[in-house]
Amino acid sequence: MKITVVGTGYVGLVTGTCFAETGLTVTCIDIDKEKIARLQKGIIPIYEPRLDELVHQNMAKGRLFFSTSLADHLDCDAVFIAVGTPPGEDGSADVSHVLKVASETGKYMTHPLLVVVKSTVPVGTTMKVKQVIREELDRRKVNIRFYIGSNPEFLKEGSAVDDFMKPDRIIVGVEEEEATRIFEKLYKPFLLNGHPFLVMDIASCEMTKYAANAMLASRISFMNEIANLCDRVGADISQVRKGIGSDPRIGPRFIYAGPGYGGSCFPKDVKALIRLAEEVDYSMEILKAVDRVNEKQKKLLLEKIQFHFGHQLKGKRFAVWGLSYKPHTDDMREAPSIVIVNGLIEAGARVCAYDPAAMEEAKKVLDKKVEYGKDPYDVLNDADALVLITEWPEFRLPDVEKMKKLMKGKVIFDGRNIFEPAEIRNAGFVYYCIGRESVK
Ligand code: NAD
Repeated sequence: MKITVVGTGYVGLVTGTCFAETGLTVTCIDIDKEKIARLQKGIIPIYEPRLDELVHQNMAKGRLFFSTSLADHLDCDAVFIAVGTPPGEDGSADVSHVLKVASETGKYMTHPLLVVVKSTVPVGTTMKVKQVIREELDRRKVNIRFYIGSNPEFLKEGSAVDDFMKPDRIIVGVEEEEATRIFEKLYKPFLLNGHPFLVMDIASCEMTKYAANAMLASRISFMNEIANLCDRVGADISQVRKGIGSDPRIGPRFIYAGPGYGGSCFPKDVKALIRLAEEVDYSMEILKAVDRVNEKQKKLLLEKIQFHFGHQLKGKRFAVWGLSYKPHTDDMREAPSIVIVNGLIEAGARVCAYDPAAMEEAKKVLDKKVEYGKDPYDVLNDADALVLITEWPEFRLPDVEKMKKLMKGKVIFDGRNIFEPAEIRNAGFVYYCIGRESVK
């Protein structure tokens, strides 16, 4: 079988590569000429564990190709649309890229195929894709049969390849049995683990993706609020987390307090769902609060820093560990570090940051005055304080004595609660964290 994936970003590149790994012939398309030229030379545009190796292997085996022309690659069994759906000015999802791909597909399609919307899109978009393709075919006065399908992606950046290869579930939205058959065939190699293949109507499928992200974002904002309350009443969020996480109705995942959620999905998908509801005169009260709590939480570390230094940050030097919105990715979209680092610079402070993967991406969004170091200790030289924003594994067990020697001030702001308060304080540091201020 042969497929074409349109949009070669985090989702498209992983999708195309993992399908190629099962033996399919895959062409990944993008409008970004430079990205495609680099991929054709084997240069991977994103940091994602194992992706590099799989792209190279599949290119070498003649199964994975890259191109800027969708028109030349519609001789396939299925087209997966995986382009971005960024937030518009009012927070709604901008589906113009998705519809543009639909229009091009209709213009150049020559034989029956399955058109799959993999991008995260508001309910109704997949049917608009169908309508746009139909209109283009009518304009050409040709009647080519095609099937439409929704197939939202649930991979997590940082473990995207593993998630795609061993999914918890595959969800597809279809109108016709023929579409289900094609999906079944394509996904069979990924479901040998027996995990569910769920077939539903297209609207429910589109909604499932938003509901999943909104639920996860809600858990994070909920725990951040509980953590902030813990700080005020002398409780410890880490213990509370274990206490509630051991209840199987709650579970231990996605209940960590921190500096707020970021990334390319949660912030925009929560906002898009709020907007989608408004379009049908419904107000999503919980999600509005989730979004507000998150915006506030992103500023929390900055407030703790301001409090410690009596709002006198001018000339102070801060070391920052971790910039990406979470570990194991270089994605800086909506990362809490943007608010914190740019806030420090705005207050007149100097910042020297280190991240194992995201420094090149960070340079595109952080204030130009930010300096970057070559390792975690390099940035500590002469620092008045350390601010830990992303919990990369290499920050977990630092050499505290070395830190003390390098740093001018002995203050740590731990945005992820990764250090042991007693250990850090016994070593002579003033230690701030989230929801554990009372922990000695
Ligand atoms: P991305 O920004 O990394 O990649 C999108 C790519 O699409 C870009 O390379 C862009 O140049 C390309 N593109 C835009 N218009 C195009 C066109 N007309 N023709 C060809 N290429 C075009 O985005 P992403 O993070 O991969 O997300 C893609 C979609 O998947 C979004 O809807 C997102 O919400 C969803 N999603 C993302 C993740 C994630 O973790 N990143 C997870 C699940 C779902």
